[in-house]
Amino acid sequence: MPTPLLPLRGIHCERCGHVATPVQHFGCESCGAHGADVADRPLTGEGTVLGAVTVHRPGGETVRIGSVHLQEGPMVRALLAADVVAEDRVRATETDAGLLFVRGDH
Ligand SMILES: [Zn+2]
Repeated sequence: MPTPLLPLRGIHCERCGHVATPVQHFGCESCGAHGADVADRPLTGEGTVLGAVTVHRPGGETVRIGSVHLQEGPMVRALLAADVVAEDRVRATETDAGLLFVRGDH
């Protein structure tokens, strides 16, 4: 059975407060702390779109992609719903195609 994509998960550094995603176990990319100082934790999956573009694929399909600044701090590149534009508040949803960020007011 595939691992659920939600909640999004990240790492939180107890030493400096840095939050990053995806989860990795090498240590904090900000201060170098590792081991028990860096904990895996769920993220809200909510954030603000910094920029978005529509990609035209062969066959006429279009895909909306963009950069989302998650409220905990990390930035992710992600699939966006067709109506999402820069500065929208969004939240992650799980679809058959993977993670999709939709406008937060839906
Ligand atoms: Zn740190």
